[in-house]
Parts: sequence; C-alpha cells; structure tokens
Amino acid sequence: MEAAAADLSLIGYAEAVAGCTRCPLAGTRTQVVFGSGSPDAELMFVGEAPGFHEDKQGVPFVGAAGQLLGKLLAGIGIAREDVYIANTVKCRPPGNRDPLPEEIEACEPHLWRQIELIRPRLVCTLGNFATKLLSGRPDGITRVHGRPQDVVLGGNPVTLYPIFHPAAALYTPRMLAVLEEDFARIPELLGAGAPAPIAPPPPAAPRPVGQPVQLGLF
Ligand code: URA
Repeated sequence: MEAAAADLSLIGYAEAVAGCTRCPLAGTRTQVVFGSGSPDAELMFVGEAPGFHEDKQGVPFVGAAGQLLGKLLAGIGIAREDVYIANTVKCRPPGNRDPLPEEIEACEPHLWRQIELIRPRLVCTLGNFATKLLSGRPDGITRVHGRPQDVVLGGNPVTLYPIFHPAAALYTPRMLAVLEEDFARIPELLGAGAPAPIAPPPPAAPRPVGQPVQLGLF
C-alpha cells in the first residue's frame, strides 16, 4: 500500500508501523503491538507498554492487567470490542522495564496518529506514562486520577481522563476500590458528549463611521 493511502486508515497505518525501527526496542521485540479494538471507538485507553504476553500475541492488555481492565469495563457495561486500547510505547521494553524517555519520544507520533484517526471523545490514560505524555504536564497519576480535563488531542476536542494503571491494583489490592470508583464515572463522561470545540471569538461587527465606542462593553 502507498504511504498516502495507508495514512487514511488505521489498518494501513498499523501495517506501516509493523516494521518500525524508530528506536532500539525494534531489536528486542517479537512484534509491534499497535493497538486493538474498534476504529470508531468513542472511548480509548492508553497504557504504558506491552509486556511479555502482549509481545507474544501482538495485542495490548492480554495479561493479568488486561484481564482486570476487561472486568472493570464489564463492571460499567462496556464491551472491550467497543473501545480502542493502545499503549504509549508499541514495543516491549526488555524485562518489562519502564520505557525510556527517548523510546517514548520516538513512539509518540504513532499514538498521535492513532488518536487522529480514531477521533475518540474520551481518552483514559492508564498510569503515569500515558498521563504525562497526553496531558503535556508533569503531574503524576496520584494527583490527577479521576479528574477529567478538556483538551485538544490529534486536532479534536477530547476529554482526557487519567486513571491508575490496572497493574497498580494487582500489586496493591486497596487500589481496586479507587480504580472502580474512577471507572464508575466513565459512562457519565461519555454521556456528556464531546467538549465544546475551542473556537476563536467571532469577529466584531464593523462599527458605523462616526458612532462612538461604548467603552463599558470592552
Ligand atoms: N500494561 C500496559 O501498559 N500495556 C499492556 O499492553 C499490558 C500491560
């Protein structure tokens, strides 16, 4: 497929990214884990990076954290097939270490393109890496989880909703209640519709020559 045509579809873009060599993770991965789910999803999740099982299967969130993500979604009546799931970094860091800043930077264009093509209304960032990248702010997940923010991502108005990474609840069971509480707001945030587009103010009507300016209005 030609690059221009590939740009028009998510599948085409996934095919192009399958051979990505933008960072050294290309040398240690089994395969690129591009993303999975509905290309028309209104709700998108962005995690950290593929782990062992994701690297083997080529699908994000298929391990223990993924099972929990599925349960949390089922708990709010949403099927996994109806959302889109991706990661900040598309290739597994060796030994499941944290992704390095240069790996995140190299992979970033793939995530932005996914968001542009899917045009979700609500983007839930799972954990620190996705939250910091997509919010463009250094605030950590403990501080900002459960707080929706209206932003523009991929050229579209989007509600960004940071949530703890499901893996946090695997290590710290009391985190499950926090995750469930934050998940419980997702239907309401989806129902709220797209945030109002940020439009420039309309141009001022031309003032008839000779008419004084009403100073109190400006
Ligand atoms: N954790 C992630 O952040 N992403 C996955 O795909 C799996 C586990």
